Amino acid sequence: MINIDNSNNVKLDTSGNKPKIGVSACLLGKPVRFDGGHKNNKMIVDELSQFIELVSVCPELEAGFSSPRPAMQLRRKGDEIRLLINKTPFQDMTEQMTSYADKKVQQLSDLDGFIFKKDSPSCGAFRVPVVINDDGYRHRDATGLFAQAFMQQNPLTPVEEEGRLNDNAIRENFFERIYAYQRWKQIADPLNNVSGLFEFHARHKLMLMGRGSALYQELGRMVAHTTRANLAERRSAYIARFMEVMTLRSRPGRQVNVMQHIMGYLKDVLSGEDKQELLSVFEAYRQRELPLITPITLLRHHLRVHPQPYINQQHYLEPFPRQLALRSSL
Ligand code: SF4
Repeated sequence: MINIDNSNNVKLDTSGNKPKIGVSACLLGKPVRFDGGHKNNKMIVDELSQFIELVSVCPELEAGFSSPRPAMQLRRKGDEIRLLINKTPFQDMTEQMTSYADKKVQQLSDLDGFIFKKDSPSCGAFRVPVVINDDGYRHRDATGLFAQAFMQQNPLTPVEEEGRLNDNAIRENFFERIYAYQRWKQIADPLNNVSGLFEFHARHKLMLMGRGSALYQELGRMVAHTTRANLAERRSAYIARFMEVMTLRSRPGRQVNVMQHIMGYLKDVLSGEDKQELLSVFEAYRQRELPLITPITLLRHHLRVHPQPYINQQHYLEPFPRQLALRSSL
């Protein structure tokens, strides 16, 4: 049985500290690319910077390359992937980059997330082109060397690429993970605080149920019977699985189940008309006629009028600051 504080505090934000995320410097408008230019990303610079502390990193510049500089490419050599300067004769820059990256990623272990520049042989996180033969044939299955070192050193830290953030569902999932991970790291005295682990799990119940009740139950079994003696071990296993589960996208049907669960707490205070309206908005969302923000906003309204302490403690209704204007996915 998990006990949680039944105060009427609405947990709609983190402690007020901004999450801190790394960003490939060229996305912040810095002229650091091989051609001396940048890839300024308005969404990151204009919208996210108000709510998130952005830490600029250009691995190629910081590893000692200049701007402008010759372009680089990844090239498969046997079982290895090497970073080469893209002109004849090729110059192999792998050691220079990996020795910088190994040191740098340790300094970045306090980050709550990272947004990488797609396709870059240094920064690309997913499906980066790699040359596989002398004819220049490419596969899209590599990872930029710096991004790879970062993800290996910080396997729990959420990462995304700027291109994928144009997809509302991916963007929302990324920010859910960033804020959840920040909350995890803010548990006070974590290695002695058994109730901190219970409370974290309890407050994320609805968010986890949105990914599947079985997953919530699986994580519940991982925290059950935790004591001071086994806390460190349980915490490590729990957060690894929690962050993995959080990468799963919720389906509309599951979200509707969660919202109906919330509505159950309001059943004695809502009029028949209000209930009917909620159900029809849930259904319109399930049919992808309305974005998730619509039923969520209606639920928030009813919870403001009829506060429910248990629901208000959940991070589900506002997993990140409202002003980020996410939750627009169908
Ligand atoms: S992609 Fe990465 S290495 Fe390339 S310019 Fe941008 S920040 Fe620098």
